[in-house]
Amino acid sequence: MEDVEAAVIAAAEEHLRACQLADPQPRPDDCLPCYLHRALRSTGCDGKLSLTHEWQGHQRVRRRRTGGLTAYLKSRGGFCDCEVLMNVYPDREPDLHPGRGRCSHPAWR
Ligand SMILES: [Zn+2]
Ligand SMILES: [Zn+2]
Repeated sequence: MEDVEAAVIAAAEEHLRACQLADPQPRPDDCLPCYLHRALRSTGCDGKLSLTHEWQGHQRVRRRRTGGLTAYLKSRGGFCDCEVLMNVYPDREPDLHPGRGRCSHPAWR
């Protein structure tokens, strides 16, 4: 086998392994934007803040403060889940390799 060919195959196998390792499930312990990144990949935006409110419900169960979340997001142009990502957290890169606990960002502000 050609060396180049072998390298291409090795790279492809490496990529496949990385994809299988990546957990596509939304992680409610992650910050809001990381959660939305994962959740929107499987569900898509329904034009509302459904996934945001789902995340908020998870925080409530964990007794974390999210008072004023919706007003905060809407005042920054986040009127649906994808707008929250685009307008409220445009600079926050999703933490693709978060630890077991949660990603490294503040929860929502
Ligand atoms: Zn995060
Ligand atoms: Zn949207």
